[in-house]
Amino acid sequence: MEELSGPRPAKNGKVPVSGAGPTEPVGVWTRATDVCYRVLVARARDLTLSTGGRSALVLAPHPDDETFGCAATILRKRAAGAQVSIFVVSDGGAFNVEEMSRDELVAAREDNVREATRRLGVPSDDLHLLGYPDLKLRELVDSMTSRFAAIFKELDPDEIYIPSSIDFHPDHVAVHTASLRAVERSVSHASLYTYPVWFWSRKSWSVSGESTLRRKLLLSRVFVAAIRGLRPVKVRTEGHLETKRELMDIYGLELEPDYDFFEKWHLRDEELFFATSTHTRGRT
Ligand SMILES: [Zn+2]
Repeated sequence: MEELSGPRPAKNGKVPVSGAGPTEPVGVWTRATDVCYRVLVARARDLTLSTGGRSALVLAPHPDDETFGCAATILRKRAAGAQVSIFVVSDGGAFNVEEMSRDELVAAREDNVREATRRLGVPSDDLHLLGYPDLKLRELVDSMTSRFAAIFKELDPDEIYIPSSIDFHPDHVAVHTASLRAVERSVSHASLYTYPVWFWSRKSWSVSGESTLRRKLLLSRVFVAAIRGLRPVKVRTEGHLETKRELMDIYGLELEPDYDFFEKWHLRDEELFFATSTHTRGRT
């Protein structure tokens, strides 16, 4: 997750990691995304019963994305005894929090992700903080590709979870791109799933500006085509939803204006993913 501009400072000392993100107006977009979500869930292959016993590797661009995208799935796997490794790619230091130095911010965010990981039931040895510079990942795709390929080869997980590329945050897209290349390079046989973070935000769709009818029509066509091309899968959050809510609160999300967005899209009856492969390099 993580926004590109700074949030208000948290009043309780927690690090706010959301921020001045897109406030979703009630309107056509909201209604369209509601319908699309229902369509995707209805179409989705249900992995709830099969995923628990399968080992997984989760790549999070920032300290928090692992929770928003995959918390209930990780909890389910850990309850079944499966190994889960979490790799947090960036140091989270680009977030603008008043009265905190960059070093203090990085340290605080590290504390948060360690706490979240502990409560996810993932051993501390299976949390890896790669320390790449926040907001610079687009310039480091080659480096990340090599690093990820070595990781995939060494751990050889059953499943790999990466952020969706349908996301306005450049770090998320960069991690997605590097991950696909790394899977190909490492000849990994893992099932590859993308998880949405800002997917449902209008800002994540490439047609900018909505002042003309033509742009609106183009946006509609891009959106519908993308939704139709996705291969959704789902894992039910039943039994883990309250824990996920508590984990989200570790990141100070409740204090931020984006809370409604994340509550709406990331605290649902299921976690939604999109199956992908290096042979079908569509935006997922
Ligand atoms: Zn992020």
